[in-house]
Amino acid sequence: MWNISSTSTVKASTEDEVRTKAEELQLRMDYYVRYQEILIPWYYLAAIDQYERNIQDVRPDIPKKESVVAIQFSDEYWSGVLNPMKNDMVPLSIKFFGGMGLDGNGDGLADKNDDEDVLLAMVMYLNGYGISEEDFKLALWDYYKNEQAVIQIMDIVKLYQKFGTIDLDTHTFPVALEYEFSYGNTWGANRGWGGRRTHEGIDIYARYGTPVLTASYGVIEVMGWNEFGGWRIGIRDNHNSYHYYAHLESFEEGLQEGDIVKTGQVIGYVGSTGYGKEGTTGKFPPHLHYGIYKFNGRTEFAFNPYPSLLKWEKEAKKIKSSK
Ligand SMILES: [Zn+2]
Repeated sequence: MWNISSTSTVKASTEDEVRTKAEELQLRMDYYVRYQEILIPWYYLAAIDQYERNIQDVRPDIPKKESVVAIQFSDEYWSGVLNPMKNDMVPLSIKFFGGMGLDGNGDGLADKNDDEDVLLAMVMYLNGYGISEEDFKLALWDYYKNEQAVIQIMDIVKLYQKFGTIDLDTHTFPVALEYEFSYGNTWGANRGWGGRRTHEGIDIYARYGTPVLTASYGVIEVMGWNEFGGWRIGIRDNHNSYHYYAHLESFEEGLQEGDIVKTGQVIGYVGSTGYGKEGTTGKFPPHLHYGIYKFNGRTEFAFNPYPSLLKWEKEAKKIKSSK
């Protein structure tokens, strides 16, 4: 008897360590709120942290941080370029060598693997630039030396600020379920127009005028004509993913570049535009071309959205039938 109950207690405590998604997000949020400053709101810290987490997810050459906060300082940034101690944790000598490392949790050490030390160091770095959005962008540019990093972090900032949460992972199928549609795994197929290109997306066939919905939360990064895609919209989400919706008959009225959209919102209507100069239409049957591109810190690569589409379609049907 005694043995059984003691084993089950041990088991329960290991299970406790496996956090649910909601608990994980709450833990992160607690850190951001604790370390935000009057001039550096939580969504600045949260956006930088999410950007780095996204990169770590797709880059095998960057070690994945196991802690709550994903932000990783390089040894040079943390300890100072000329510091002979690459893993210096002594605040005084780090300061002497011009490193950014600081002690946030008050244990006397500036540890770049400690969440609180990392957040304090980031807040103090940002504080050094000033209070405007332009100051923040300049700080990002100096830190990452990458224009895409600045753009994508600012998109995440906008999303977090607008919705007041970091829980923006809801997705849906990009065609309204009330309408007829069909699709298969057309990823990688050869295409007839525009030379030798492989098909970086999935075609969802539907009638002209069928509403197209945004599959994710995001910021409209691109909207207009493209000779391949016709009238198309590109939306960047909080996972550094760029969702591409092409061949639209028209856009939803009132939308423009820079707008923030919510999962399931109508963004346009199925058409057959593209494969030529502006206004070209009817060169193929009407369909939505849907693609996803992900930024890995250096380049953007396309990946097959077919498995996601199957999943989102199933989930959307379930929600619909429970209404
Ligand atoms: Zn296509």
